[in-house]
Parts: sequence; structure tokens; C-alpha cells
Amino acid sequence: MKLKETILAASAAALLFVGCGNAEPSAAAKAENEAKHPVGHEKHWDYVEHGPAHWEEFSKTCGSGIHQSPVNIIPGKSVSMDHTYDLTMHEDFHTMAAIIDNGHSIKVTPQKGGSISLHGEIFNLLQFHFHGKSEHTVGGKRYDMVVHMVHQNPITKQLAVVAVFFDEGESHEILDTVINNVGKTVDVDPQDLLPKDTSHYYHYVGSLTTPPCSENVQWYLLKQPQTASKEQIEHFRKFYVDNERPVQELHDRKVESN
Ligand SMILES: [Zn+2]
Repeated sequence: MKLKETILAASAAALLFVGCGNAEPSAAAKAENEAKHPVGHEKHWDYVEHGPAHWEEFSKTCGSGIHQSPVNIIPGKSVSMDHTYDLTMHEDFHTMAAIIDNGHSIKVTPQKGGSISLHGEIFNLLQFHFHGKSEHTVGGKRYDMVVHMVHQNPITKQLAVVAVFFDEGESHEILDTVINNVGKTVDVDPQDLLPKDTSHYYHYVGSLTTPPCSENVQWYLLKQPQTASKEQIEHFRKFYVDNERPVQELHDRKVESN
């Protein structure tokens, strides 16, 4: 099978609710979804034919939500961090992790991940995945790649996503581990994704950037970017080059910065 055909086949096989930032649906929900929409007849969201302008057909929130993500961050308009929701990261955790191409991104699911704490609450790392260009922009700048580290509070089920931007530059070891092992389970340490400085970031409340576009997601965009080599970026983009949702209106929200 040629690469393109492989990607198409993978896209067709992907389930409706497996995407950016989304917790996996329950087995019961999957079964129900498959019963209602037999495989092969389901309309799947994507970034082309059923792209962002059509996502409302999959979830109303994607069209009518007013606290959606991603957004363009205007540094001069951000406000000082209200320290109630300061980010503390505990990601130094060696674990086996499954790497899959889910039809929308390359997704890595650690068997047992690290966590972050916000407001005295622990949010566990569920998965991380990559976009071939950054979804959020900063002062209009779109970074060459981004990783979204998706965390969930096990009690309230609220989601918190930490985004690490990549600029073209030095190669980054964990990217090779991910890109070269799609379909396999490997040992990773999510901390390797993080830049040295994790204490400066933008914070705001937004949504998943893929259907169902659910809101009340805590977003943390680390200011210090990581680097990826030209070869690594090109390698990743053989899988996904335009899997980013356009920026959404900020509406009444304030972006915090520290
Ligand atoms: Zn994402």
C-alpha cells in the first residue's frame, strides 16, 4: 500500500470521537456509535472534505461555542496571571506508551503517565499528540509543530492541555522515537517533551480543537519553544501537514501570562 492509501485507510477506520484532546469514549459508547453508524457509512470529520467549517455537523458546539480553541495570543493584550491556576508539572515518569496514527494525528498513550497540578487538583496525563503546524498562534506566528499533552482530573473529568511549540532547529530525540515507532509500544518519558523553562506560559480557558469541541478546557501554552530538525518536521508532515483548526474568536475571554 502506498503511503497516501495507508493514510486514507487509517482515516476511514478512525472513530468519530477520537481526536485532539478527547478522552477515549467508553466501550458502550463506541458500540452504540457503531450500531447507529455501521463502519463504511459513517461520515467522518477531517481537515479536508469534512473540515473545520463542517464540524458543526458532528457537534453543535464546534459552530456555536463562544469559548473555542485555538486562538491567536496577542502578547500585549494578555493580563497578569491570576495565580489560582498556576501550573505545576510532574511529568518525569518512564512508561511504556502505545503510538498510533488515529487518522487525525500521531497519538501517544502512556500506560501510566505523569501529571500536572492546578488549583491543588491533580490532572493525569492521558495522551499526547502532534500537529504538523501549531494550532495556537502567538502574535500571528504559527510555529512549525506543536505537541498537545492532554491531562484529565480523574474526579471532575475536566481537561487541561499543555502545549509545547516547536521551531525548526536542532533535532529532538523523542520526536524520532515517536515518528519511527508508529504502531508500536515503546518506552518514553513525557518530561523529554518539555523545554527547560516551564514556568512561563499563556493560560486561558478554551475547548478541544477537534469535534466534539467541548469547552471548559484549561489551556497552558509554554512560552519557551522546543526545536525539531527540518528532517523531523518533514518526516512528521508525511503523516500530517495541515491538521490544525483555524484560530477562533476570543470573545469575552482574557488570556493570562506570566
Ligand atoms: Zn491537539
